Formats: sequence, C-alpha cells, structure tokens
Amino acid sequence: MKGLAGKTALITGASSGIGQAIAIRLAQEGCNIAINYRSKPEEAKRTEEIALQKASELGIESRESSLLVQGDVSKEDDIIRVINTTIEKFGSIDILINNAGIQTEFASHEVPTDKFDQVIAVNLRGAFLCARETIKHWLDQQSSGVIINVSSVHEVIPRPMYVSYAISKGGMANLTKTLALEYADRNIRVNAIAPGATITPINESWTDDLEQKAIVESHIPMRRAGTSDEMAASAAFLASDEAAYITGQTLFIDGGLTLYADFREAWSA
Ligand code: NAD
Repeated sequence: MKGLAGKTALITGASSGIGQAIAIRLAQEGCNIAINYRSKPEEAKRTEEIALQKASELGIESRESSLLVQGDVSKEDDIIRVINTTIEKFGSIDILINNAGIQTEFASHEVPTDKFDQVIAVNLRGAFLCARETIKHWLDQQSSGVIINVSSVHEVIPRPMYVSYAISKGGMANLTKTLALEYADRNIRVNAIAPGATITPINESWTDDLEQKAIVESHIPMRRAGTSDEMAASAAFLASDEAAYITGQTLFIDGGLTLYADFREAWSA
C-alpha cells in the first residue's frame, strides 16, 4: 500500500493474535517493525521470524528491519523505554499501533477493584500513554505520523460481565477522536479499527470448541468469525497514504455484528 515502505511501526502486544498479524502485514508492506511483548520473548521471536520470512518472500530486504522490545503498557516507565528503544534503533516511529489488550469476566457488581483497574490500565491508559509519548516525539522532531487504536465492537455495543473491557473500548472511541482533532493540523492522523469476534488467543474459550464457535457465529450476520489477517489488512490501509485524508474514525470489521442482527426480520412492524 502507498506510503508504507521504509516507515517504522511500533506494535504493542505483537506476540500473538491481531497484533502479530499487523506486525507481519506491515513487514510485508516494507515497514520496519518494533514488536512489543510483555512476557513471552519466544512468542515475539516467532512473530519476527514469520514477518521476516513473509517479507523476504515478497523480495523485501529485511536485515536490521525488526526489533523485539519488552514492556508492559500498564507501566509508564516501560512505555517510555519501549518508545526510546525503538527510536534509538530506527531513528523514528512513524506508525503506532495500540493493540495490547486484556479482558476479565465478572458480574459488574462483583468486579474486584484491582481487576477493573488492570483492564483500564492496559487497554485505555496504556494506549493513551503510548500515544502521548509518540506524539511528543513527533512534535520534537517536527514530523508527523499515524496512530491506530485497536478498539472493538464493544466500543459501541454494551458487554455485560465485561464492564471494564466495555468501558476501556468506549473510552478508546473518544481517545481516537480527541487526539485526531487536537493534532489534525500537524498531519498526525488517529484512527481505530474495531474488530468483531476474531479467532485469536483472547477467545480460546470458544475458538477451540466447535459447539461454542457455532453459537458465536450464529450471532454474526456473515455467519463466521473474522481472522487476524482481515484486521491487519484494515490497519495497514489506515496506516498507509491511501487513507491520508481519514482521521478520527473507527472502522468496524465485524461481519455485520454492529448492524443490529435482530432486525434482520421485521419483528417490530
Ligand atoms: P491476544 O490475547 O492474542 O492479544 C493481546 C496481546 O496483548 C497479547 O500479545 C498480550 O501479551 C498483549 N498484552 C496484554 N497485556 C499487555 C501489557 N500489559 N503490555 C503489553 N502487552 C500486553 O488477543 P487479540 O484478540 O489479538 O487482542 C488484540 C486486541 O484486539 C485487543 O486490544 C483486543 O481487545 C482487541 N479485540 C479483539 C477481538 C477478538 O475477537 N479477538 C475483538 C475485538 C477487539
């Protein structure tokens, strides 16, 4: 896609799932990739191996084009270190992908405060702090860049039993719009992708169980879950110059999940 070759992308939580797929796709587009991981270097290494392999199959020179960078996005010091390490290695960051995310399941009246705080700290505060530090870097360098927040259909659909997750993604909508508006005149673009049900480790409770998977897919208008590669394609588009005039938007990639499937038939008429 236009404008991605030679750019540097930092992807948080890139050792699995959607983050891994985005790192691989951006490497295939010719980006340098900084693969952030929290605790499993062997998984991050696997992301790197696949990314470099797939990039080289497309004839993309990949020497010195990737970096593994440990850091917990719920910790401010870690974020600053991750960003500085990426800039030291590549000279700049052009694309920030705020992907790291967690969820916990509790009835809302029973959520332990520390569990609530942890989800917000990773999904929302972590995304904000990564964005803040990256924007500072762009302003210092008098350069510009792109932020993609990995949100969710639960940016707009309520999610009983997952209140902290729903709040974090709802907050991400306004994080995306506020930053987009504040920095639009500096050519800093901020958008989000909002995946629907996607086959990744965060969903292993149903992806690994055919019966459960069929139940989940029966609720999706397109009757199937999405893939990480489909999410990565949209992230690459929004990061590219093909999307040069798009900012402040959330792109829902959900097989129609946000179309109010219950209204497929005219039950209310
Ligand atoms: P995943 O569990 O494979 O990926 C989450 C990644 O975040 C993991 O690599 C994990 O190690 C990392 N992470 C967690 N806490 C971290 C921390 N404190 N610091 C750094 N990294 C951390 O699941 P996924 O589905 O690929 O999720 C990626 C993003 O997509 C999340 O933000 C999630 O909310 C969002 N999402 C997923 C779905 C889905 O159906 N899979 C749907 C909507 C949104």
